[in-house]
Amino acid sequence: MDDEEDLYKEIIVDHSQSPRNQGKLEHATHHHHGYNPLCGDEIELQLQVENDLIEGVAFQGSGCAISQASASMLTQQLKGKTTAEATALISTFKTWMKDRQAPECPGELGDVEALSGVRNYPVRIKCALLAWTTLEQALAGN
Ligand code: ZN
Repeated sequence: MDDEEDLYKEIIVDHSQSPRNQGKLEHATHHHHGYNPLCGDEIELQLQVENDLIEGVAFQGSGCAISQASASMLTQQLKGKTTAEATALISTFKTWMKDRQAPECPGELGDVEALSGVRNYPVRIKCALLAWTTLEQALAGN
């Protein structure tokens, strides 16, 4: 299989070049700075949580296309979810990312399915996971 084509699907390139929800929130209630030393990827994630509902999400970051696209796709999934639903989504994503044999991408992950090729490159999995572990930490209040 062609590495480049497998990893850098059009939708990943699109998200990395035009990240969704990029920026800062006026009234963030949660935030966390995530760093992946293996690749140098960084993500500053902010959330606005009201009555346990995620009302706002924004991120700023730098690093490889996989890490930034994954962050962009993740933020698209969050608005309107409860913190418990977000936590469940993180767990679904991690399980799917770490199991190369898992056939189908769980439907609730949406565009995130484009990251399926990353599962064949263990070093890049850290890039894809960064935004999600950063979200986990932000929700935990770290
Ligand atoms: Zn990376």
